[in-house]
Amino acid sequence: MKVRTYKLRNGNLPGDPSKSPRCGAKTRSGAPCRAPAMKSKFGGYSRCRMHGGASTGPRTPEGLERSRRANWKHGLYSAEAIAGQREFRDSLAIVNSQLNELALEVRLLVHQRKRRQKLPPPIPKIIAWSPGQPWPTEPDPAASFRAEALTLAGRIEEQLHVIQGLITRARNEGFVNRVAAFTDARTRCLTVQARLYGLL
Ligand SMILES: [Zn+2]
Repeated sequence: MKVRTYKLRNGNLPGDPSKSPRCGAKTRSGAPCRAPAMKSKFGGYSRCRMHGGASTGPRTPEGLERSRRANWKHGLYSAEAIAGQREFRDSLAIVNSQLNELALEVRLLVHQRKRRQKLPPPIPKIIAWSPGQPWPTEPDPAASFRAEALTLAGRIEEQLHVIQGLITRARNEGFVNRVAAFTDARTRCLTVQARLYGLL
């Protein structure tokens, strides 16, 4: 076999093009096609430029995805977009119901305190005590109020954190309307928080 150690100025290998492998496809006349075969991607030579056959379609993940989206108009009704809409609606509904709950609990706390402030100071109860036992302590309403308020404050803080996460995500995904909806929720949450902090 001849060893070819140089290339033509156009970069092709030297040699007699008429000796290159032929196509060999069956033509309408019945004779094999005599056009030069093309180099195959998988090694060797296949058919000529006319006889390769139809495209077998996209294979790479990117190509398949491109093909799937070949007829897209805007994608607003795609499965992903619809699922995203549903998820947004669900999370907004959850956030709002949580905020309703927190607002109600703050309101109850305000109400309880007002009522207690109106009442005369409680009459000390007669308490049973026997020697050797620790002196029983009266429950302190102010302390229990404070504990309840602090727990509530923690839950509001947590809710703010959740809402902030939702805002960030909506912003990253480029949904202006979702950002606006969650920002409204945050404003509401801050109002509830301010009301509670006014009590402390
Ligand atoms: Zn051919």
